[in-house]
Amino acid sequence: MPTENFDVLIIGAGLSGVDAAWHLQKNSPKRTYVILENRERIGGTWDLFRYPGIRSDSDMLTMGYSFRPWTHPSAISPGDAIRDYITATATDAGIDKHIRFRHKVVSAAWDSATARWNVEAVRRDDSGREEPVQITANFLFSCAGYYRYADGYTPEFKGRESFKGQIIHPQHWPQALDYTGKRIVVIGSGATAVTLVPNLAKTAHVTMLQRSPTYYVSRPEKDAMANFLRRYLPAQWAYMIPRWRNIVLQRFFYSRAKAKPQQIKQLLIKGVSDLLPQGYDVATHFTPKYNPWDQRLCLVPDADMFNAIKDGRAEVVTDTIETFTANGIKLASGKELAADIIVTATGLQLEVMGGAAISVDGRKIDFGKTFTYKGLMYSGVPNLASIFGYTNASWTLRADLICEYVCRLLNTREAKGVEIATPRLAEPAMKAEPWLDFSSGYIQRSVTMLPKQGEKAPWRQNQNYFIDIKEMRKAPIEDAALEFSKAKALGAKPTLARAAE
Ligand SMILES: Cc1cc2nc3c(=O)[nH]c(=O)nc-3n(C[C@H](O)[C@H](O)[C@H](O)COP(=O)(O)OP(=O)(O)OC[C@H]3O[C@@H](n4cnc5c(N)ncnc54)[C@H](O)[C@@H]3O)c2cc1C
Repeated sequence: MPTENFDVLIIGAGLSGVDAAWHLQKNSPKRTYVILENRERIGGTWDLFRYPGIRSDSDMLTMGYSFRPWTHPSAISPGDAIRDYITATATDAGIDKHIRFRHKVVSAAWDSATARWNVEAVRRDDSGREEPVQITANFLFSCAGYYRYADGYTPEFKGRESFKGQIIHPQHWPQALDYTGKRIVVIGSGATAVTLVPNLAKTAHVTMLQRSPTYYVSRPEKDAMANFLRRYLPAQWAYMIPRWRNIVLQRFFYSRAKAKPQQIKQLLIKGVSDLLPQGYDVATHFTPKYNPWDQRLCLVPDADMFNAIKDGRAEVVTDTIETFTANGIKLASGKELAADIIVTATGLQLEVMGGAAISVDGRKIDFGKTFTYKGLMYSGVPNLASIFGYTNASWTLRADLICEYVCRLLNTREAKGVEIATPRLAEPAMKAEPWLDFSSGYIQRSVTMLPKQGEKAPWRQNQNYFIDIKEMRKAPIEDAALEFSKAKALGAKPTLARAAE
């Protein structure tokens, strides 16, 4: 089987993979790269999720790329507009020509002798027939997202098989489903549930069934300032002004929430009760047990969910499921919810490196036993970076910084005449902390497979754009924790010579 060689192999053609390719082309243009994408289209999350009303949960003024203005009138954007934006970025920059669709990366084995990743992928043709593909690359850039594409997370529900209606997970929404006039129970209260409920309630009666409440904040779908400035200023300016306003305000709000949780809790709950009918039981349905930002705050654009509740098209039930029945769900309180359709908005299954098996010189890497270096590389793993965005701000803010950093790293290596950069933990006894300090179920379920973070830089995963600007954009690439070395095999070709092959 012929093996192709590249300088950089990017896994995934979603928001992050296109970001990575754009930065490589601009900041490290001599390097050859390829993107392997398992799906048939660009867009990742924004191509996969097709449930009614699918939209961003954060504003696109901060979730757009730093280098490409978001010009759609909605700042809280429909999913297909985000997919179009990512696709247009890729086609305008010629990135699409570097993407191999229907290629699933299954493993990557690092060889220190040659300073290369030997990557095994599976290619599917039109008929679904699969064949193996081998590619080598000096640097592996995982932009594979953070969850399993094949299945979402669904807890075991007693009596599930007895339900006579349809059970749907939002990750696999049947496009032909006609739910007009149906009774729908949506299980969950996170970002997906809160998007689905008002949208389904346009033509159906919807019950949002939650075990415990979530914090919500309502904001306009359209950003008046951005839409006004766009009429008078060049697009990039009209983008950057409200973008920085949002970055600063979101950071301020998050810091206040951490410093004064009770004050912000009251503020959030008051905001919600003002949008609900008088006398509504806010204490039961909209008063979470945790503090604001211990889990991601959910956005409700233009109060759409609260309006659906006010109009009687949607209701919220806070209870525990005892069992599914033939006609719906029996709750611990004894109440029964009748349903034609049950939607399990119960979350995602986390996955590291797109599920690919990673090994270094024959040693399998368990990422749960590594420490994250600047939140993008891993202790003892050479020439590999991955993108994971913020939990308290838009994903792309961090993705952009990581892409800039990786280009600087590649260029520094070239200047030093070495092929390998490996984060090395000098203090093996450093106290390990969880990578993400979120109490959300999907993170807690997977905490053991996620890398750890240390107590101090560069081993900390900052959830702070301003600190990351310093550490990733401004700080020198060379530091005590990053080891630079040459390929072990005598005569191994330096990475950059390969670009001419
Ligand atoms: C419903 C939903 C809404 C969200 N809303 C927001 C929001 O409003 N704001 C925000 O900041 N974040 C949001 N997120 C997080 C969101 O995933 C990121 O914002 C962003 O889309 C991540 O982009 P990505 O390219 O890193 O990953 P993805 O979008 O997940 O793309 C990863 C790509 O890698 C491919 N891939 C994975 N494994 C392999 C493999 N082994 N081989 C080949 N290809 C592979 C996938 O097919 C996919 O195309 C949301 C997530 C979900 C699920």
